[in-house]
Amino acid sequence: MTTIEHWIGGAPTRGASTRTAPVYDPAAGAVRREVLLAEAADVDAAVRTAAKAFASWGDSSLSQRTKVMFRFRELLVRREDEMARLISAEHGKVVEDARGEIVRGREVVEYACGIADALKGSYSDQVSGGVDVFNFRQPLGVCAGITPFNFPIMVPMWMHPIAIATGNTFILKPSERDPSVSNLVAELYAEAGLPDGVFNVVHGDKSAVDAILDHPGISAVSFVGSTPIAKYVHEKATATGKRVQALGGAKNHAVVLPDADLEFAADHLTAAAFGSAGQRCMAISVGVAVGEAGDALVDVLKRKAEAVVVGPGDDPSSEMGPVVTAASKARITGLVASGIEQGAVPVVDGRGLTVPGHEDGFFVGPTVLDHVTPDMDAYREEVFGPVLAVTRAATVDEAIALINANPYGNGTAIFTSSGAAARRFQREVQVGMIGVNVPIPVPMSYYSFGGWKDSLIGDSPIHGPEGVRFYTRAKTVTSRWPVERQRPDAALTFPTS
Ligand code: NAD
Repeated sequence: MTTIEHWIGGAPTRGASTRTAPVYDPAAGAVRREVLLAEAADVDAAVRTAAKAFASWGDSSLSQRTKVMFRFRELLVRREDEMARLISAEHGKVVEDARGEIVRGREVVEYACGIADALKGSYSDQVSGGVDVFNFRQPLGVCAGITPFNFPIMVPMWMHPIAIATGNTFILKPSERDPSVSNLVAELYAEAGLPDGVFNVVHGDKSAVDAILDHPGISAVSFVGSTPIAKYVHEKATATGKRVQALGGAKNHAVVLPDADLEFAADHLTAAAFGSAGQRCMAISVGVAVGEAGDALVDVLKRKAEAVVVGPGDDPSSEMGPVVTAASKARITGLVASGIEQGAVPVVDGRGLTVPGHEDGFFVGPTVLDHVTPDMDAYREEVFGPVLAVTRAATVDEAIALINANPYGNGTAIFTSSGAAARRFQREVQVGMIGVNVPIPVPMSYYSFGGWKDSLIGDSPIHGPEGVRFYTRAKTVTSRWPVERQRPDAALTFPTS
């Protein structure tokens, strides 16, 4: 069996690790590889290596850094097919969807290719006689990223291209469930000419995460994952004086008004609820049918959910693959059962689905639960599976109130032909990313990504301009030239002009 090793200082290594975790092919339900689980000594080795590399990388020129990014981007294009298949094999998502996340991640690399522009400072001439003020931003040092299983290449790419392009060195602790692609990314960086030690991968579980959070040599931690762990990471890392960005879970509602094109809305709800088997932080997990949209919408959703082709991710005819683990499948089907027990109506029930030839795979079919109410577990919990809960609201106000009462605030969408209703919705809803007739409003790489409330702990969204701000700190210089001794402005009172 292949053992996936860490990548430290430009080469794979076992380090001090003795523990491993199994890595599954979710479509077969079988273990295919194992991954090393780091001890604190491995994290320490990575930090020492990254700190040494920072001494020169932090001082490298902008053109040196952007050259690496351009080459890295070309290699990502060239190796896209191989990467997509590797992601699909460990995550379960269909290959075409894996390609999608590679492309969206690559867009952050493209943003990083233009880092020279994003890093421009400002300059104020002659703020006082002979005095100018200017500022510029410098890297922090060693930064770390801790990432979830659901986007094994895209989410880390929300972090490391910007951290590295701004002059930092980076340690990635990817999810232990689909770790392989991170090592391939490390190889591509090396091929692109990135000096050894600038990008490192340490695989592991809670022990590795705790070692990162406790390590005094790490300046900043970026985390994306579930809300309880995001809160833990934020609390622990800020307590040790680190900068932290911590993005959490979600419960994303799509509101459908009676004036919407129901076929169009249902097509998009189906894609957004069941794509990647619902394992996206921006997946639509609640459809809010307003007024008389209700029954008609549910009828169309039923037809479309039943038509989704479920199968292994490497079969080109599959539209939806399995979920990531057996435990995940058990949690999802348990929440569907509890929803039905608590009064929801199963319009489509995917719990019994088997895929011929893949009987042991972790498959759950598309599921639509109607008449879900906010007190049900299937509504309160983040299901993170192919389950669309439909709830009813009498008015737009009621729909907005429902969304605003939810503890999460990652993404939301409205489907309508009324500009006035859409405008009101986007102004009043307490959510960070909003779609108008767009179901999954993930901002482009030159904007920043981040939810509100329990979907983002602290105050730092990720990538785009916020990413540049996060991975750098500003210096502001006030300078006087020429120095004129005879000028009588060296007073003991505070200077005012
Ligand atoms: P997770 O929180 O279980 O794991 C995320 C990372 O934390 C992994 O690297 C994991 O090894 C580590 N981890 C897990 N348990 C830990 C513990 N007890 N102590 C320290 N570290 C621990 O998340 P997941 O299941 O891999 O991913 C799914 C979750 O991520 C969902 O909640 C989803 O909404 C969220 N997510 C959010 C966004 C966003 O942008 N807001 C994006 C993607 C995923």
